[in-house]
Amino acid sequence: MNKYLQSCAITIASIASISGTAAIAAGESGEYVNEIAPNVYSYSPGNGYHSMFVVTEEGVAVFETVNSQHSTSMLEAINGITDQPVVYGFQTHNHWDHASGGAVLQSAGAETVMHRQAAEWLEANPGRDTSPPDIVWSGDRHDIELGGVTIEHHYLGLNHGLGMTVFVVPELEVAYIGDLVTPNRVMFNIVPDFNIGEWERSLGEILELNFETAVCSHSELPAGEVENGCTKEHVAEERAYIQDLRGAIFAEFEKGTPASEIPTSIELPQYAHWAHYDDWLAMNAQRVLLDLWMGPYPWVPAETAE
Ligand SMILES: [Zn+2]
Repeated sequence: MNKYLQSCAITIASIASISGTAAIAAGESGEYVNEIAPNVYSYSPGNGYHSMFVVTEEGVAVFETVNSQHSTSMLEAINGITDQPVVYGFQTHNHWDHASGGAVLQSAGAETVMHRQAAEWLEANPGRDTSPPDIVWSGDRHDIELGGVTIEHHYLGLNHGLGMTVFVVPELEVAYIGDLVTPNRVMFNIVPDFNIGEWERSLGEILELNFETAVCSHSELPAGEVENGCTKEHVAEERAYIQDLRGAIFAEFEKGTPASEIPTSIELPQYAHWAHYDDWLAMNAQRVLLDLWMGPYPWVPAETAE
């Protein structure tokens, strides 16, 4: 057991002896639950996916069901903190690795919520662990009131996947952000299903939303920090990385580097400490290069994107 886990074990023991409200509880598995704002908790079972839940006097709102295993252990963590039932399970977008596991919350009496585009995609492409949502909304904005707070649903247009929703609870100044911001890591792998330019635009719009602290579905912040979620600083860093990578590609164009050699020629030493810099930077560069070469993709006409 390393020092961090030791201190966590001590933390767990002391919290358990003091009260039922866990501040941080993390163990060998990487599972933790942490109160990031009053009655707002970040949660991960240690699988690389981070959820959020908000406890109110009218029930609990969960953000990102991920999969059945994830939702089952999250439900246990919630039940360790409050007697309130889970009433909503909010899902950010269509991808199976985020929108699965809703049936666990539905069985517990909750309604799952997603944007129309995500719901239509999942109806056409059901995953092994997905379930039809109970509430489907459309357009670029929807609100649900719960226990004195507002859960704002922001659809910012095409950026990643379909129906991508950023959730904001303005009264508590918290947000939940799926896939669009990953602190301390380069872009994911081959940057699948991201429209790079629209992603960059969306990050600018996220910076304008009313929150101080967020939970990002993925994070490579170290243990001890990751439990605290992410901030607008990470949103700005994500956008800066996109811009710096594109700038580096243009610089290679100017130098006359053959296109086929550009991905492996790129260096961005200011991000060398980020996770997957060594193995994904060239893949990121290849993807952005293709976007510049072919034109942006994926893309859909505006009227189908509502
Ligand atoms: Zn995704």
